Amino acid sequence: MAEKRDYYELLGVSRGAPEDEIKRAYRQLARKYHPDVNKEPGAETRFKEITEAYEVLGDAQRRQMYDRFGHAGPSGGPAGAEGFPFGDIGDLFESFFGGGTATRRGPQRGADLRIRVDLTFQEAVFGVEKEIELARWESCLICGGSGAEPGKPPITCVQCGGTGEVRRIQQSIFGQFVNVATCDRCRGEGTIVQSKCPECGGRGRLKRQRKITLPVPPGVDNGTEMRVAGQGEGGDKNGPSGNLYVQFHVQPHPVLRRDGFDLIYELPLNVAEAALGTERRVPTLEGDEVLTVPPGTQHGRVFRIRDKGVPRLQRAGRGDFRVVANVQVPTALTARQRELFSVLAESFNGREDDEAEPEAAGAAPGGDRSSGRTNGRPARRGRKKDKGLLEKVKGALGLDEEDA
Ligand SMILES: [Zn+2]
Ligand SMILES: [Zn+2]
Repeated sequence: MAEKRDYYELLGVSRGAPEDEIKRAYRQLARKYHPDVNKEPGAETRFKEITEAYEVLGDAQRRQMYDRFGHAGPSGGPAGAEGFPFGDIGDLFESFFGGGTATRRGPQRGADLRIRVDLTFQEAVFGVEKEIELARWESCLICGGSGAEPGKPPITCVQCGGTGEVRRIQQSIFGQFVNVATCDRCRGEGTIVQSKCPECGGRGRLKRQRKITLPVPPGVDNGTEMRVAGQGEGGDKNGPSGNLYVQFHVQPHPVLRRDGFDLIYELPLNVAEAALGTERRVPTLEGDEVLTVPPGTQHGRVFRIRDKGVPRLQRAGRGDFRVVANVQVPTALTARQRELFSVLAESFNGREDDEAEPEAAGAAPGGDRSSGRTNGRPARRGRKKDKGLLEKVKGALGLDEEDA
């Protein structure tokens, strides 16, 4: 920790300054540095420092201790070090310069609740009204959260006089100091319930099972979190309710994937379809659409169907439906397919004239084979098993139907 500044220096007063001068100095500085009015960086730290200084110098006994021992006083750290419990600048001065120190616990905001909600793929895309069930603490309507039986309001605690805390003056070798403790009689409440509310047993709250209809907007995704204000646990002493945080868990779709607001469909194509082109049906979420796959489609090529994706959450418009060509090279070939691929292979290797194709059989009689450029083995093997098929390719290869 950085070295602490001298309290007198912080308040800009002399060591011998009278009590009312210290009070005046603090008032002035607090107005200047209160985080509600001063948004400059460092203002809050400064405000805490001067508040801490005033808590010590404004109290005759603590000031005396400080004068004698400095910051490392016998009581350890300063009492107000953990912050300043003031709402706005108005009640700052009330609580500081007014009569009683109001440390009593007021209404408390309820805790936030977190739940997970499962959605189907379609529900997440198009939105849905989802009925959910949750158990939560709610303020008791009979006693209004006070815990006291109606008509028998809580009475002020006699031990602490309603402040909720007890001050004890303790003697030590260093002198006197004040020890502030929470009142054990009222547990810091300042009041004591004489007759407990029969509905909630004095707790002021009740655990309830609630059904809530959750309006799930279109476009949520797996992991999207939604805040439903005021649907968390009820507050203490009629304080406001906490919030409900809903995290969505979206079931995967059998064939579609999401990428942001785009939907992705992988279209399996065999090599022939990719090379020659085809027409295929693709399953958008609003029914099938016919997609024309042009000849020469490469693996990974993307076809976009505009505005058939997911509605954009909190914005207008929709993403696209992306069809990605997945060209699959066969791993297991029938004899016939192997035969055809061999023919293709020869063709790609330039052992055949393009001109030969339209003329079919007899275009290159015998010569091609006898030249020895082809290895011809797969073709010969396949030919025995499927002569009908070979009819279609033998012309291009220049093979005779010698085994027929
Ligand atoms: Zn009650
Ligand atoms: Zn008390």
